[in-house]
Amino acid sequence: MALPFVIETNSLVKTYGTQNALNGVNLKVAPGAIGLLGPNGAGKSTFMKCLLQLLPITSGSAKLLGGEVGTEGREIRKRVGYTPEQDCHIPGMVGCEYVTYCAELCGLPFQVARQRAHEMLDFVGMGQERYRKIDTYSTGMKQRLKLAQAIVHDPEIVFLDEPTNGLDPKGQAQILELIHSLWHTYGITVVVSSHLLHDVDRICEQIIIIARGTVLVHDTLENLKASKKGSAEVVVADRHEALRAACLLKQWPCELLPNGHLKVEHNADSLNPLLHVMRELKMAPLEIIPSPNALEETFVQALEISNATA
Ligand code: ADP
Ligand code: MG
Repeated sequence: MALPFVIETNSLVKTYGTQNALNGVNLKVAPGAIGLLGPNGAGKSTFMKCLLQLLPITSGSAKLLGGEVGTEGREIRKRVGYTPEQDCHIPGMVGCEYVTYCAELCGLPFQVARQRAHEMLDFVGMGQERYRKIDTYSTGMKQRLKLAQAIVHDPEIVFLDEPTNGLDPKGQAQILELIHSLWHTYGITVVVSSHLLHDVDRICEQIIIIARGTVLVHDTLENLKASKKGSAEVVVADRHEALRAACLLKQWPCELLPNGHLKVEHNADSLNPLLHVMRELKMAPLEIIPSPNALEETFVQALEISNATA
C-alpha cells in the first residue's frame, strides 16, 4: 500500500557546534515531485543528510518511507537514492564501471548490476562517453552520471541536492526533464533542493521553502498560484499593442516582456474579464499562464517575514 507520507519529521533539530542548522522542523510530506527551496545556507543539504543518516540528528525525530531514521537505517537505505551537491565519483574510474559498482554496493550481483547500469546510462542520455574516465566529463555529464547512480537500484525516493549547479541553460533543461520523468513516468518520489526558483517551478508540484533552518512554507504549487491570482502572462501571435492599449484602458498595468509575452495585472480572481477583453478585440490567445510569478512572490514574502522576525 502506498504510504500517505514519505517524510515525517517531528521537531527535527540539527546543530553544528553552537550553530543551529535546523530549528525544529515539523513536516509531513506526501509522495510526489517536491522542491526544497531556500537561499544558500538555509539548511537544505543538512535536512537531506539528516534524513539520509549521513549526519546524526541532534534532537527530535524523523521517518523516511515509514521507517525511523536512526534505528531502521539499513532497511531505509536500500529504498533511497541520493545525489550529493559535490562530485561523488571515484577518480580514475570509467562511467559505466562506476555506476555498475554503485549497483553492486546496493547488493545487486555483477551481471544484473552491469545491465541496470547500462539501462540507467541510456535513461540519462549518455552515449559512448560512458566508456571514458569520469575525470574527463563535462559538468553536465557528471550531473547525469550522478543521477544514474542514484536510481540504479530502483529506489522509491531520491534526494537530489542542487542538481542543476554549474550547468548551462540547455544542460539545466535536460536534467530537469529527466527529474520530471522520474516522478511523472516512473512514480519515484523526488526531493530536489535548489536556490533557483525556476528549477522547482518547472518540475515540482509540492514546495517547501526553508530559510535559516526553519520551514516557512509547505504547500502545493497549485495552492500557491491560486492564492496569487490577479496577474497573467498572455501569449498572442500579433497585435500586442492593441491588447496592451485595451488593458491600459481598463486600468490594468500591462507590459511587454522580453520574451514577447504580455504581462497583465488584471486584479481579478478569474481570467474571465481578461478573456472578455480579448474576445471584444477578436483576438485568440495562443496561451495564458495564470499567476506566473506566484512562486517568486511567495518566496520573497516568506523571506521578508522571516528576516523581519529574525
Ligand atoms: P544549504 O544546503 O541550504 O545551502 P546547509 O545545510 O549546507 O545549507 O547549511 C546550513 C547551515 O549550516 C549554514 O549556515 C552552514 O554554514 C552550516 N553548516 C553546514 N555544514 C556545516 C558543517 N559541516 N559544520 C558547520 N556548519 C555547517
Ligand atoms: Mg546545500
